[in-house]
Amino acid sequence: MRATPLLAALIITALSTSPALAYRYQVCSALGDSKDIKLPSASLTLRSSPVSFPAGVWLDGLNNAISQFNKNPSPFRFSRVTDSGGVGRGNGQSEVWGSTDNSVLQGAPAIAYTYYDCYWFFGIHSNINEGDTVFDYRSPWQWTPTTTKSAISRYTGSLRLLQGTAVHEFGHVTGLKHENRFYNVMGSDFTHLDTNGSTVNAYVGEDTGSGLVDLYGLNGSGIQDLAVAHWRYLGTSGEYSTHARTRIFNTGGTELSKSTVGAEPRYNVTRGTSVKAEFTFENLGRSTQTNAPVKFYISSNDIISTADTLILTSSVTLSRDTPSTTTRTVNIPSGLAAATNFWLGVIISTPAGVGDGNSANNTSYIRIRTN
Ligand SMILES: [Zn+2]
Repeated sequence: MRATPLLAALIITALSTSPALAYRYQVCSALGDSKDIKLPSASLTLRSSPVSFPAGVWLDGLNNAISQFNKNPSPFRFSRVTDSGGVGRGNGQSEVWGSTDNSVLQGAPAIAYTYYDCYWFFGIHSNINEGDTVFDYRSPWQWTPTTTKSAISRYTGSLRLLQGTAVHEFGHVTGLKHENRFYNVMGSDFTHLDTNGSTVNAYVGEDTGSGLVDLYGLNGSGIQDLAVAHWRYLGTSGEYSTHARTRIFNTGGTELSKSTVGAEPRYNVTRGTSVKAEFTFENLGRSTQTNAPVKFYISSNDIISTADTLILTSSVTLSRDTPSTTTRTVNIPSGLAAATNFWLGVIISTPAGVGDGNSANNTSYIRIRTN
């Protein structure tokens, strides 16, 4: 969620703008000129409430969210200090806290308030002066800072990942708005995750990373990072994108039958046949990667590694623009045990000689059962 009080007098107009590619931000326009509405520099110190985020798991979770946000291809970086003197809206400090106040939360599980100028005085003034992030923390607590997959609501748990929503709200603080046309964290952040084994991670995503580059420029010596996920764009819910799990099809393009196991889809596959496996590939780094290796595996569990059974070596070329949800045709080995659960895994790597600054998001899987 987002709310945008204005502090400035002489307000002209603030327009929502969508560049040709994706992501949305606000623009201040006056007298035939315009400027992006953003923070005055590529860094901001967030002040966390010591009551809402005491030392321990909650503060660790908040720090994790900041760390994930900072793995973006622009120079923009958040830092954090513990607040003193009390938190509040419109006090000139960008703070993070929990609240049970409906007038602050406005019905949202979390909300960001940005305070910005948009006026002309011998030039356009369009700086964000303050960005506050507030979580609803009334009982029953709906958040978890743990990245254990079994605790998360889109898997077998019931709680929402604090870090994912924090990344979303921090995006608002930088000047980004909601986005409903692509798989992205400024849409449905609860279903914007990367996963391997028992762990899930929140992340900025390709679309939002590109938005940050638009607002704050490219970090020319910044991160290179490719990623793969088993989530994809589904549709819109108001300003938000909605996401669903990626699928497996037969070679004719018909989705295979599936059941739900451990809150995840499990596709029924026939040994010795070819199927089309769908995944979302993202370039979260500073430059285009050409012919990046993409390898598919059969695994006996949800931990995908190069020690699993390799079934296809392919490649993909990814510029940093919007996420790419595509299929690859793979053969389900005839020698697999029948009536057995497996995981169809995928690993994407940066090309040789190009480091990958975030190896946690290079693998994904879809559950399968052989027949
Ligand atoms: Zn929002």
